[in-house]
Amino acid sequence: MDKASLEQKLAQLPLFQYSFMKSEELVFSDRVRKICETECPRFGTTWACPPAVGTVEACKARCLSYPELLMISTVTEVRDVADMEECLSTSKEHEKVAYEVAQLLREQGCEVLVLSTESCSQCAKCTYPDAPCRKPDKMFPCVESHGILVTELCEKHGMEFFNGNIVTWFSLLLFR
Ligand code: SF4
Repeated sequence: MDKASLEQKLAQLPLFQYSFMKSEELVFSDRVRKICETECPRFGTTWACPPAVGTVEACKARCLSYPELLMISTVTEVRDVADMEECLSTSKEHEKVAYEVAQLLREQGCEVLVLSTESCSQCAKCTYPDAPCRKPDKMFPCVESHGILVTELCEKHGMEFFNGNIVTWFSLLLFR
């Protein structure tokens, strides 16, 4: 991979921060998956969510088959951070940036697995479970669906979380 050329292109995107890591640094937890199962209304409704993504063990094995990892973040200022609808609406722009970064890695000859925010909202109605995913290259399961905790990883690599009326989104781009 031509990392210098990749970083030149990353600098042109509206990223807040990014960091290259190893996927073996990822921390997987059944507890995170439990929150998915018990608290998320999208559970069992898309190909990007559990149970379609497989067990945490299967997700871990899939992730670790991509040894390299690029974590990216974007930040967006919102009027009121307590307004969940407004906060969630900012994820769409982040998803576009995550897709562009994935394309840059693909241009470098990499196979890429993207884990991103929320669940997939590419289609007005997901085909799950009756037919295959319509847009597998744009379908990014959320980080939590794979049982991954990012807080420690963020601290270790100096990736910042913002408070106040700033929404910070993270994506993990695993590649080989
Ligand atoms: S791309 Fe469409 S079919 Fe595939 S997971 Fe997303 S919403 Fe479902």
